[in-house]
Amino acid sequence: MSEEAIRNIVILGGGTAGWMTAAALSAVLPRSYSVQLVESELIGTVGVGEGTIPQIHLFNKLLRLDEADFVRRTQGTFKLGVQFNDWRQLGDTYVHGFGPSLGPGLGLLPFHQYWIKARQAGKAKELGAYGLASAAAPQGKFMTSASDVPANSPLASISYAYHFDAGLYAGYLREYAEQRGVHRVEGIVREVRQHPSGDIHGVVLESGEVINGDLFIDCSGFRGLLIEETLKTGYVDYSRWLPCNRALAVPTENTGPPTPYTRASARRAGWQWRIPLQHRTGNGHVYCSDFISDDEATAVLLANLDGKPLQEPRPLRFLTGRRRKFWNKNVVAIGLSSGFLEPLEATSIYSIQSGIARLMALLPQTADYSVLAERYNSQMAFDFDRIRDFLILHYKATERTDAPFWNCCREMSIPTELQEVIDLFRDSGRFFRNGEEMFAEMSWVQVLIGQGVMPRGYHPLVNQLADQELWRFVDGVGETVARCVEAMPLHQAFIDRHCAAVPPHRMQAPARPELA
Ligand code: FAD
Repeated sequence: MSEEAIRNIVILGGGTAGWMTAAALSAVLPRSYSVQLVESELIGTVGVGEGTIPQIHLFNKLLRLDEADFVRRTQGTFKLGVQFNDWRQLGDTYVHGFGPSLGPGLGLLPFHQYWIKARQAGKAKELGAYGLASAAAPQGKFMTSASDVPANSPLASISYAYHFDAGLYAGYLREYAEQRGVHRVEGIVREVRQHPSGDIHGVVLESGEVINGDLFIDCSGFRGLLIEETLKTGYVDYSRWLPCNRALAVPTENTGPPTPYTRASARRAGWQWRIPLQHRTGNGHVYCSDFISDDEATAVLLANLDGKPLQEPRPLRFLTGRRRKFWNKNVVAIGLSSGFLEPLEATSIYSIQSGIARLMALLPQTADYSVLAERYNSQMAFDFDRIRDFLILHYKATERTDAPFWNCCREMSIPTELQEVIDLFRDSGRFFRNGEEMFAEMSWVQVLIGQGVMPRGYHPLVNQLADQELWRFVDGVGETVARCVEAMPLHQAFIDRHCAAVPPHRMQAPARPELA
């Protein structure tokens, strides 16, 4: 088999991961490849996953999606970042905003170095006042980049992502993929057939139908039907650092205009998300079952909703971590089957995307793929481990002492690399991005400072600016950002103008019978 060209690709699973993979393959592969997707409506999908990060633009660009159409069809809204409430201390709030940078750097140094000195002297506002996204989000302002402003204006390069309805998103991508030749098969896989080498050659459905393939993409969700249940690949458990292991998700009616940010509010044994869409609001409580019962977690969620629940809260269980190998034999795991990092920074859809991009880059010609698989595995493991550390930071750097869960998080030991990042930053505000890790300096700096890791010192070159000059520089950045935010439209007005969706009840209304 190893000399034969890989032509038949089978995707197992039709959730977000399955249909994103199918859509990308259909956009990129020539028609000489066959792509089949097996899914079961009876099993269904996890159905959450509604927040994204700006990297999604790369995926949409690959598919050449029209943004307004995409937002309308998924009841989407725009996202400038995440607002974290009560994470450092009760009553505390900060925004992790997207963007190419906080204020502009000067010479060799990033903006935050100047801000540290100004802040220490009592001459600067909160860091969030100096980033366009972090300043605009709480004011409910949103627009995409303007082309009629100077290139150095913050309005010239606005970084943003989307919130969308996960079910509508999968449906939208399904339509895209099927139009481009992906063949969907409905049915439950009851048996997996392997070659003596362990490679999989087919899956058998309950109907008896056999779907054969050369390469299998396991998008079967948490269970990992191929990668784990069949190949016993093993799991790297992160739960000693990221102990939340359950979630309850519930949609509510909208109560006002959608915020252009996700809200992540810390609770006594976890945290609660709020994701505004055009037709409803997604909410969920992520918690650790060692510190709160399911009933109590439900009560906490329901007591903290802005609008009326549209259904009963749906429970989900998970173990944070990743597969030992993402590509094992001729199976590549993408999506929840590859691992799970809790949705605090909405990184799962990004991980699906990066899995697809890497698979494209390392697409094997024949079944002799071991070198390619090794590279794929080391890159994906690096991605997961670095995002893991970024998430741990949110928990570790808490100052809360009001609940056993937060005491545990504050006191836990953390991976050495993360400890080094915190120590270096606390010393003098330096940060160095580790290779191609997902989150850049701007993200780390906002979360470090937002969580209260305030540097004791700063880079000595900051002192090249006389104090008065430095205060003026920092003030000037703040004023520019404030002026830009002032000029931005409200998020709702932007949506109304460019991509207002049809309310679902109107889409589903049966056609009016013709009068005789
Ligand atoms: P699933 O949605 O579980 O799909 C699995 C598919 O496999 C289904 O189609 C199912 O029918 C099929 N299947 C399984 N077994 C069989 C079988 N035997 N035969 C046939 N078909 C089978 N991600 C983000 O990026 N942003 C977020 O804000 C976010 N929030 C989240 C909140 C929570 C609480 C959770 C748990 C996850 C969140 N995620 C988020 C992650 C996101 O939901 C997932 O990454 C995404 O939905 C992908 O899921 P999936 O397609 O891998 O799995």
